[in-house]
Amino acid sequence: MGPRIIHLHPAAPTKPATGAACNGCGVCCAAEPCPLGMLLSRRRRGACAALEWHAADARYRCGALAAPARWLPWLPAPLARGLAGRWIAAGRGCDADLEPQAAGPASGQSPGQP
Ligand code: SF4
Ligand code: SF4
Repeated sequence: MGPRIIHLHPAAPTKPATGAACNGCGVCCAAEPCPLGMLLSRRRRGACAALEWHAADARYRCGALAAPARWLPWLPAPLARGLAGRWIAAGRGCDADLEPQAAGPASGQSPGQP
């Protein structure tokens, strides 16, 4: 698969190195949805529909974790958080083996090849 263009908020933090603490840069979820994101987005490619920009802390968050009642209304909130947490490996370091490159002021970032 070749380079892809993804669009991120200009104030989003720079992606950390793989294995470092997640800073909510959004690169992974903007590049392609995780298994839960595929279900919520109803697609296997492109940005996840549940990826939410939080201006107050200038970072992206997973909507399934931040607002489970909105994204997983059929599940009790504790179960929804547990499910989402397991599927996105919450609490671990960044596991996105992508190398984003700035592509210009209005054209987003290219995550490049793993
Ligand atoms: S897992 Fe990595 S790429 Fe994904 S939001 Fe966290 S820091 Fe960014
Ligand atoms: S972690 Fe959340 S926002 Fe990211 S792809 Fe999965 S469901 Fe979507």
